[in-house]
Amino acid sequence: MIRSPGFRLRLGLTLGFATLFAVCVLAAWTYMSEAGRHLGADYPALTGDIVRAQAETADLRLALEDLAREPGDARHRERVETLLWLMPERMDAIRRVLARTELAEAGQVDVLDALRRTEDRLATLEASLTPPDAQLEAIGQALEADLAWAYSSLLDRVHRAAAAQQRLMKRLSIAVGTLIGLVLMVAGALMLALARLHRQWRRLSELSVTDPLTGLANRRRLWDLARHHLARHRRDGGELALLLIDLDHFKAVNDRFGHPAGDAALQAFAEMLRSLIRGPDLVARLGGEEFAVLLPDSGLPAARRLGERLRRATAALDLPPPADGHVLTASLGLSATRAGAHDMERLYALADAGLYRAKQGGRNRLEINEAS
Ligand code: GH3
Ligand code: MG
Ligand code: MG
Repeated sequence: MIRSPGFRLRLGLTLGFATLFAVCVLAAWTYMSEAGRHLGADYPALTGDIVRAQAETADLRLALEDLAREPGDARHRERVETLLWLMPERMDAIRRVLARTELAEAGQVDVLDALRRTEDRLATLEASLTPPDAQLEAIGQALEADLAWAYSSLLDRVHRAAAAQQRLMKRLSIAVGTLIGLVLMVAGALMLALARLHRQWRRLSELSVTDPLTGLANRRRLWDLARHHLARHRRDGGELALLLIDLDHFKAVNDRFGHPAGDAALQAFAEMLRSLIRGPDLVARLGGEEFAVLLPDSGLPAARRLGERLRRATAALDLPPPADGHVLTASLGLSATRAGAHDMERLYALADAGLYRAKQGGRNRLEINEAS
């Protein structure tokens, strides 16, 4: 199968665009899910920890008050001990999450210092439980006051940072979306331009192998196709025949009826040729009133039958006015080759010699020039 350069270009363009599109979609998807993870994970987790820490601070103050009021009650002591273990753990967790957020540690020095100080005080508080210190209530209130300030100012900053990050993410999403849109638009425009270029290129290549007067193939197309089949025959065997056709005394048609009538006669003759040949055969106009039929996979007998049919059909052709009634005849030369033994130049020269003999022999006849 012959694959044209156009097919490869179209295939390349389609694959290129599909790849570009897939990369853009993948990039957008990766970015969105990353952005979503950053927005959704860090700050809500930190906020949750701070809110729980605030509740534990109030719990500690209450538990200390209870223990001061009823020093003998083991449940109060247990509550205090549990909180004294839990609260430093919570502070640690807050510090860890804080380190992963946009809130630079340097900006939180006051809060982190307050937490560190409180942590030290919590560590020493355990010693004041047995026997319960008389100042337990006051200690609880002071701790709560310090922590309340630290946690609420931290919470405030977290909320502001989260809002700022959310705004940033939104702007980034819009920027990335616009960028992807632009890339796709440019790629689409490029595709359209290339497709147009390709159409024009195809039209040009079609024109470069077509005869403008008759729409038949021209000499170049005939030679290209003949070489293609000869190469195939050299590989796989097979016969190829070439018929050369020259209209007889065509100058007289122009002289009698005018050049436009001659053109119309050439077009009518071309149409007749086109209607009589088989699918794989190719009719070409070599120039002037000279035509050729290439018969791939045909030997001399079949080509001769077709040539005789064409010769009779020419003589019976009704030419359009004003040349109607004029009997047009053609002389034909035929040659053939087997397994690509002759190249196209040799095949043409043989057929041309046959054509010369047909002219010499009185015209309106077909002469075969068998390969020697
Ligand atoms: P012969 O039988 O020996 O082939 O005679 P002829 O008159 O056909 O051959 P000759 O080579 O002397 O003249 C060919 C004529 O074909 C000359 C020219 O006017 C005419 N011709 C060639 N191309 C065209 C064309 O495109 N249009 C028209 N109308 N006439 C053409
Ligand atoms: Mg001629
Ligand atoms: Mg002629």
